[in-house]
Amino acid sequence: MTVTFTLLGTGTPGCYPNTYQAASALVIDDFPIIIDCGGGTIQRLSVAHANGQPALRISNLKTLILTHLHPDHSAGLADFIISTWIMERKESLTIYGPKGTREMVELLIQAYKIGIAEHRDTESPTNWPLKYEVIEYTDGELFKTPKVQAIAFRVLHGRLETYGLKFIIGDKTIVHSADTCPHPAIVEHAKGCDLLVHEVYSARGASNPVRNSPMAYFKRMHTSTVELADIANQTQPKKLVLTHQMHLGAVSDEEMVQEITDLYSGDVIFGRDLDVFKI
Ligand SMILES: [Zn+2]
Ligand SMILES: [Zn+2]
Repeated sequence: MTVTFTLLGTGTPGCYPNTYQAASALVIDDFPIIIDCGGGTIQRLSVAHANGQPALRISNLKTLILTHLHPDHSAGLADFIISTWIMERKESLTIYGPKGTREMVELLIQAYKIGIAEHRDTESPTNWPLKYEVIEYTDGELFKTPKVQAIAFRVLHGRLETYGLKFIIGDKTIVHSADTCPHPAIVEHAKGCDLLVHEVYSARGASNPVRNSPMAYFKRMHTSTVELADIANQTQPKKLVLTHQMHLGAVSDEEMVQEITDLYSGDVIFGRDLDVFKI
């Protein structure tokens, strides 16, 4: 069995030249699971596919999990639904998301109804139905196949319903934090995992921000480097990959990693868009 985890977008609501908004792809043999769908996700998927991941061909994308409904994790949704369909996805797309996802998808389909109808109903070559299903989930198992069990667990991201994700693939375990404050569920699920993909902000950046950032907000919504080092010490992942990095000041990528490795001796990687991790 071949298992890869690809960071498609490591970004945040901010716009930067080399980071797209939040999205990742877990691929188990020929089965891709897309996690979150920030702006540009479909373009990043096409690059990852061109870089040598045949399972990420656009027509093969049929499973999407949204961890929460912040725009930087969902702004690419209309493009994802429609582009996969136009690129010959004839089977149904299953979109897992928290409460509110169904309404979001239905409103997007409604918003694009003129263009969708033109593609579907005229002499356009896209003459097959646009099929999708929305499953609104809470804590617990999302789905199970012979190769992978996907489990959602509630985390703490202000007042926004948000879920971390755990994937059990044979004797391998991958945990994705989503956006969250430090939370006991992360520690519980990530203990001894093979890969922990975790969001983070710089504790040093937060203590001396260059721009006027509302620090109380970050502390209520996200996990600092110091807090993440503590989580890593408790869970001891084989590999810790930082994503959704928030520098909050004049802190370099290397310095953010250093803030963690000063307190934690394991393997820590500053994730970048299109990085691929073999599990
Ligand atoms: Zn986010
Ligand atoms: Zn968020």
